[in-house]
Amino acid sequence: MQHQDPYITLISETAPVATSTHGGRAKCLQRLVRLSLPVPQTVALSFKAVNDIAEGRLPPMAELLEPFGENPLLCVRPSSEDPDWGGPSAVLNIGMNDATHARLSAQIGETAALALYKSFIRTYSVHVERLDPDMFEDLPASGPEALSEALRAYREETEEEFPQDAGVQLSAVLKSMARAWRGTTARLLRQAKGAPADAGLGLVVQEMALGLGNEGECGSGVMQLVSSSTGLPRITGRYLSQSQHREALREDSRSLYLARDERGPSLEELEPEAYARLVEYCELMRFRLREEMQTEFTIENGNVHVLDALRVSRSSRAAVRIAVALAEDGVIPRDEALCRVDPRALNEMLHRQVDPSAERDLLGSGIAASPGAATGRLVFSAAAAQAAKARGEASILVRRETGPEDIRGMHAAAAVMTERGGITSHAAVIGRGLGLPCVVSCSGLGFDMKLERLKAADGRVLKAGDIVTVDGTNGAILAGETPLIEAARDDAFQSMMSWAWDYCDIGIRANADTPADAEVARRFDAQGIGLCRTEHMFFDPGRLTVMREMIFADAPADRRTALDRLLPMQRADFTELFRIMQGKPVCIRLFDPPLHEFLPSDRAGLRELAEALSLPLSDVTRRVEALSEYNPMLGMRGVRLGITVPEIYEMQARAIFEATIEASRDGAPVVPEIMIPLVSAKREVEMVKTRVDAVAAAVRNETGKNFTYRLGVMVETPRAALRAGEIAPHAAFLSFGTNDLTQMTYGLSRDDAGKFMSAYVKQGVFPEDPFHTLDTDGVGELLMIGAERGRAARPDLILSICGEHGGNAESIAFCRDAGFDYVSCSPFRVPVARLAAAQLRI
Ligand code: PEP
Ligand code: MG
Repeated sequence: MQHQDPYITLISETAPVATSTHGGRAKCLQRLVRLSLPVPQTVALSFKAVNDIAEGRLPPMAELLEPFGENPLLCVRPSSEDPDWGGPSAVLNIGMNDATHARLSAQIGETAALALYKSFIRTYSVHVERLDPDMFEDLPASGPEALSEALRAYREETEEEFPQDAGVQLSAVLKSMARAWRGTTARLLRQAKGAPADAGLGLVVQEMALGLGNEGECGSGVMQLVSSSTGLPRITGRYLSQSQHREALREDSRSLYLARDERGPSLEELEPEAYARLVEYCELMRFRLREEMQTEFTIENGNVHVLDALRVSRSSRAAVRIAVALAEDGVIPRDEALCRVDPRALNEMLHRQVDPSAERDLLGSGIAASPGAATGRLVFSAAAAQAAKARGEASILVRRETGPEDIRGMHAAAAVMTERGGITSHAAVIGRGLGLPCVVSCSGLGFDMKLERLKAADGRVLKAGDIVTVDGTNGAILAGETPLIEAARDDAFQSMMSWAWDYCDIGIRANADTPADAEVARRFDAQGIGLCRTEHMFFDPGRLTVMREMIFADAPADRRTALDRLLPMQRADFTELFRIMQGKPVCIRLFDPPLHEFLPSDRAGLRELAEALSLPLSDVTRRVEALSEYNPMLGMRGVRLGITVPEIYEMQARAIFEATIEASRDGAPVVPEIMIPLVSAKREVEMVKTRVDAVAAAVRNETGKNFTYRLGVMVETPRAALRAGEIAPHAAFLSFGTNDLTQMTYGLSRDDAGKFMSAYVKQGVFPEDPFHTLDTDGVGELLMIGAERGRAARPDLILSICGEHGGNAESIAFCRDAGFDYVSCSPFRVPVARLAAAQLRI
C-alpha cells in the first residue's frame, strides 16, 4: 500500500491527512494518533476516493485491507468536512462470515458471536442491499436455527449467498455509503446547515475493538468532561458492558454512569483503572485538541481503545462557558474564545427558552419576532392582560396587531402573539425592547377577536383563559404548559462580554424608551441610548387624556395649556433617563407617530372620550374621522407634525433642556441629543432647528444655566439619504432609521408585509426578509450615499443606524465597513451586537 498516497491513507502521525481532503473525523483521528492514544488501526479514504467509489471506480480491496491483516473485522464511518453536515450511518463488523463466526464463538462465546453475525447480516441487507427490514421480523432470535434462517432469508431475497469475502463486503459498504451521500434528502439536509453543493465525503475504515468477550471487562461507551447543557465541569457519559459503538446511549440499555453517581452503578466503581485512563485521555484531548471532546471508547478485556472523538454538543449557555473556561485555563487565547460563540446564541441565553428536550404540541406558527418563551393564559385585550397581572397570573396577549394603546397590556403580559405584522411591526419592536417573547403573523390560527377564540389548523379551539406557550425564538405557539429553561447571565457570560469590549471598534448603543429599558441598557453596558422613541411616554392613562385634549384643542393657546401639563411629565421622564445613563449620550427622538394613534376608533371608546372632554359624540367622531389617514405611515407624522403643530416639539425641547439642567446638577454633565424623525427636505431641518435653538436660548435665559446639545436628523426617507449633503451642515449627526427606510425603498408596508413575506422568501424573490436582514444592495446603497454625501459636507458628522437591523451581525459588518460611529439596537441585543462587532475585528 502507498501510505503517502492521500487517496487511501493509513492514518499515522505523519500521513498527509487534511480536513479539506479527508474530512474532520479522519483529521481528528490523526490528532489522536499523534497524542499516542490507543486508536485502532485506521485508513482514511479521501473525498476524491469516495467520489470515485460513488461512480463505480473502486480502489483495489487487497490494498485497502492490507494494513488490517488476516480475517479482519472492520467498521466504516463517514468523515465530512464539518461534522454538522452529517453523513451515512456507521457500519460495524464488516468481515463477519462463517469462519469468523466460528473463531469468535470460541473467543467470546457462541451467543455473542451469533448476535454479532446476525446483526451484521441485517445491517448489510438493509443498508447495503436495500432489502426490507421486515424480512428479519419473524426469524428466531436465538438458537442454532437463528443464523441459518437469517442466511436463508438473505439468499431468498437476493438469489445469492451471503458474501463471505471481507473485500466483497467492504467494497459494497463503501459503495452504498458513497452513494447515500449523493441522495437528494442528504444533500438538502446538509445544504440547510450551510454545506456547499459540492461538499465532499471522506470515509474512515477502522479495525474493530470488539467490546465483547469473556477475558476481563469488555464494553463500550462515551465520555466527556463537561455537561452539554450547562458547560460546567462534570464527567458525563454512559458505559455498557458487552456492547459496541453507541449502544450504551440507547434509552432502554442498562448502561452505567461513568463517574460515581448516587443514582446508580458506575464505570468508576466497576473498572477504576480503565476509568482513570479515560479521564486522563479526555483531559489530554482538551488541552491538545483545544476543545471539549466527547470520546467514544471500547474496553476490550480491560484495555481501553479510543475509537473516535467529537466536539461536545452544547447548548448556547454551555458554548459560552466552555469557550471562557478554555481561555481562562490558557488553552486558547481570548480572541479565539470570542470567535467560538455564535452571537445569536447569546440572544437565546438572555431569555427563557423552551427546553429543547421537551415535547412540543404545536398549535400554529408565525414569524419569530422577539426571542424567549413564556407560558400563560390567553387574554384578548390589554385591559385583560393588566387584570391578569393584578391577579398575579401570567397572560399571553392576543391581538390582531398591537398599537400604542396596547403598550400597558404588553408590559403586563408574559408574551404577545398577533395575527398580522412583520419583524418591524409595533408588537415586534416593543416586544424586543421589553425582552418579551413575541410571535407575529400567526395567520394560520383563525383569530376571532369578538368571541375571544383561536382556531388551530387541526380544528382545536382555544378560548380566553386557556393555557398556551409562546416560543418567540422559533415562532411557535404550543398548547399547554411546556417545560422552559431559565435565562442565564452568569459569570462566564460577563467575562465574555467584558473581553468583547476590548475588541469592539464600533460603538454599541441601545434603543430605550423608558427608564426600565434604560436600566437594561446600562446593565448590558450600552455606550448610550441611540434612540428614545418619546411617543411611548404618552400612553400612560393619566397622560393619554391630556394628550387627547391637546389633539382636540382648537386654538394654539388651548393646545399650549394641554402641553404645559405634559411638560413636567416629559421633564421627569428625561431627567430619569439622563440619571440612569450617568452622562452617557442619550439621543431623544422628537414625537413621530400620526396623532390618530392616540385616539380610540371603536364606538365605546369614542363615547368615553366625548364624556372625558365634555364634547358631543358627533364632534368627537368628526374630529377622529378628520385625523384618520389612508396611509398613516406616509402621512402626517414625524417632522411634518413638528412643522404644522410646532408646539409639540417646543414642549419636548423645553422638557429636554430643563431635564438636562436638573440631571447635570447632581450627576455627570449631560449633553442631550435631539433627533428629528422622517425628514425629507433640508428646509424641515432648518425650521425645526431655529425653533429648538430659540427654546434653548429661552431656557438658558430663564435659568441662568448654560448647557450644550446636539441636533441631528433621522434618515428614514430615500430623499433624506440622497440629499444628505445639504442636510448635514444643519445636523451634528445622521442616524439611519432603516425600518422606515426599508419600507420606503421597497414601497413595502412594514405592518402588512408579513402576509406575503414568507412566500416571497420561500420562492426566492427576496433572499431574506429585508426588515430583518439589511438589504445591503438597495437600502445599503442609500446608506452609503447618505454617509458619503453627509461626511463630504461635514467631516465630523456622526453616523449611526438605529433601525431594528442595528443588532444584526451582517448589518453591523456593513456599518463598520462604511465607517459608522455606532449602531443602536434593542437593549437585549446589545450583547449580541457587541460580540458580533468584536468578531469582525478579530
Ligand atoms: C426606523 O424607522 O428605523 C426607526 C428606528 O423608527 P421607528 O421604528 O420608530 O419608525
Ligand atoms: Mg421610523
